Amino acid sequence: MIAKVLAPASRRERMTRRPHLDTIAVDTETTSAAGDVTLPIHLSSTYELAGLDTDLSLEDINPGDGEFLYSRLSNPTRHGLEQELAALEGGERAYAFSSGTAAVATAVLSLVEPGDHVVAFDDLYAGTRRMFETLFRDQLGVDVEFVDATDADAVAAAMTPATELVWVETPTNPRIKLCDIDAIAAVAADYDATVGVDNTFASPYFQQPLSLGADLVVHSTTKYLNGHSDAVGGALITDDPEVAERVEFRQQIALGNMLAPFDSYLISRGIKTLGVRMTRHENNAMALAQYLDDHEHVETVHYPGLESHPQHDLAREQMQGFGGVLSFELAGDMADAKQFLEALETVTLAVSLGGVESLAELPAAMTHEPLSPAARDELGISDTLIRLSVGIEDVEDLRADLERGFAALES
Ligand SMILES: *Cc1c(COP(=O)(O)O)cnc(C)c1O
Repeated sequence: MIAKVLAPASRRERMTRRPHLDTIAVDTETTSAAGDVTLPIHLSSTYELAGLDTDLSLEDINPGDGEFLYSRLSNPTRHGLEQELAALEGGERAYAFSSGTAAVATAVLSLVEPGDHVVAFDDLYAGTRRMFETLFRDQLGVDVEFVDATDADAVAAAMTPATELVWVETPTNPRIKLCDIDAIAAVAADYDATVGVDNTFASPYFQQPLSLGADLVVHSTTKYLNGHSDAVGGALITDDPEVAERVEFRQQIALGNMLAPFDSYLISRGIKTLGVRMTRHENNAMALAQYLDDHEHVETVHYPGLESHPQHDLAREQMQGFGGVLSFELAGDMADAKQFLEALETVTLAVSLGGVESLAELPAAMTHEPLSPAARDELGISDTLIRLSVGIEDVEDLRADLERGFAALES
């Protein structure tokens, strides 16, 4: 066997190089005295104090130095995961939540008051869109305006002096639309508005919104960060100390919606393989996107890796990879789409995404069924739009499975 010879790094390179995300993802820092190489699971809800005169003001308790008081405030396992999340997104502070939904709700509750104006991408995760409409707009009196953020000028046109927050996702679900984070951050800066980006679909491996000017990033860690479809969780990462302080109060004192130790461990365990998984998800998704694009039963494929995607150039600029989710429109009607999905054997019919196994869903009949047909139309969600979260199985097996679906349409 011939050993691979690596060129010695120059002194300058050694001093300035930020580790690659593949390295950051594997690196685990624990507060454990045992020298664990993985994150230990600390189940204790409370911690022994040094004495009656211990200072219990929260600013003086530093988890980084192994100081803990009560697990709602901080817990060694959750803290370890939060350190990993901050490192992956290049942020200062991270907070792990009980779900992606909790992370989004806490972010918005931290930043807006009744009467404030919020500009949000019209193509949001369906649950987030309902939260914005029902909780923030209807119940709390926040003036939420939805715009087509694929056009940064549309965001600019919606901004007012009362705009406190701009909220986007990119790529979106299920139409895989992109928005220009850098351009939107520039627009928001003119109004001193905070920019929040839901980075769930890209994962930090393929996109780091803070480096593009966003103030905070959220994730449903249920998806790619955990990657194994066995833990629900969320995260918020920021490099703005004021945002961090507001979020910290809401999560730890007002709402108590933090992630439990065992789930923190599972997500930390998943993160170690983020790089290999994302690379494989992307390779498989690209191959299937090209296969579908050439197929006579397919009208359109939505995948940013295809040159035909309207924002292919933006994807190349702001992402380091195109991700593992694609959607496509079958020729035919909803009954055909259902027949296609029912014939699949390797790909599982289920909501959610980002796990090692391939999942397919029919938004018009499942996740986006609660929307009116007109609202679905506006978002470009046709009755035959199928979303595919491409897993890490052998790509030829996946292709054969889709072939099975197409064969069912001909029988
Ligand atoms: C799944 C998802 C959410 C919600 O996260 P949960 O963990 O299910 O609460 C939010 N945003 C996006 C983009 C998602 O895919």
